[in-house]
Amino acid sequence: MRPFGYAAPATLAEAVEALAAGGPGTKVLAGGTTLYDLMKLGVERPTAVVDIHHLAELAGFDTTGGDELVFGAGARLADLAEDPVLRRDCPALAESLAKAASQQLRNSATAGGSLLQRTRCGYFRAGPPYPCNKRRPGSGCAARDGMDRQHAVLGTSESCVAAYPGDWAVALLAFDARLDLLGPDGPRTIPLSALHREPGDTPQHEHTLADGELIVRIRVPVTATARGSAFHKVRDRESFAFALASAAVAVRLGRRGTVQDCRIALGGLATRPWRAHEAEQALLGEELTERSALLAGEAALAGARPGTHNGFKVALGIRTVADALRAAGRRAAS
Ligand code: SF4
Repeated sequence: MRPFGYAAPATLAEAVEALAAGGPGTKVLAGGTTLYDLMKLGVERPTAVVDIHHLAELAGFDTTGGDELVFGAGARLADLAEDPVLRRDCPALAESLAKAASQQLRNSATAGGSLLQRTRCGYFRAGPPYPCNKRRPGSGCAARDGMDRQHAVLGTSESCVAAYPGDWAVALLAFDARLDLLGPDGPRTIPLSALHREPGDTPQHEHTLADGELIVRIRVPVTATARGSAFHKVRDRESFAFALASAAVAVRLGRRGTVQDCRIALGGLATRPWRAHEAEQALLGEELTERSALLAGEAALAGARPGTHNGFKVALGIRTVADALRAAGRRAAS
């Protein structure tokens, strides 16, 4: 047991102050579903934690607005997954939540914290003697010559091939979500697409939040396309497991079933939530058929660079995109 400080601020403003006062060794505690695990494994060794899980300012969500869906960063995944309006108007978002982790974890995990969950790479979590550039920069990457079955095939680098493990961020990316942040320099808003980094030469830097900056809320523009959406997740165990491949897709169909608008984002396949713009372009103006859905899947995986044991993910990813598009197409046509 390593001693660490603990603060439970009463307001969001106090939380930002506590983070700034605590310095770089201070971590945010929200649902705790990632941080507790990594502290027990010795991957995270905070000098202090700032507990924000009880803050009412972060807890709410509203899916009834005409312009945007609003999710407080502290809203629980379980509550969002069961929201009837979300399930009707944007099923891909609701399904990504319902398929994330187990019910117990969804009861605790938060909308903001879920975006920042860290990779499930076994070498990262195991620590020494395995080299890991994410855990210890410059030490090497055990997965490149080791067991890389779960690892990414898109967005990889020589330094790291770890897959981003989340579902919620993947679905949000498909719908152009934006994040309201608050930090020592005040509030700002960024697109979710700007939150996660590819590993490059610095896989230890996973996101673009400034020191002491918090995610306050997530906002998603309301679109007619969202009703024709689906989140498809393929994993080793259907009860709960991280995605080997997932796809959050949405389509809006015009006359004769041609695709007027299309969103495709991938999970389990890339080092960050991955938007497949080329695949979207490939489908626009086309009739949504088995063949065009598979071609979109091939376009989404065209840049894949598999390692030793994860070549199956290319075919699996193509099929996952195609299956998700078929499900979304049925909803869009109904
Ligand atoms: Fe570490 Fe990334 Fe290599 Fe896994 S894939 S061992 S997280 S550097």
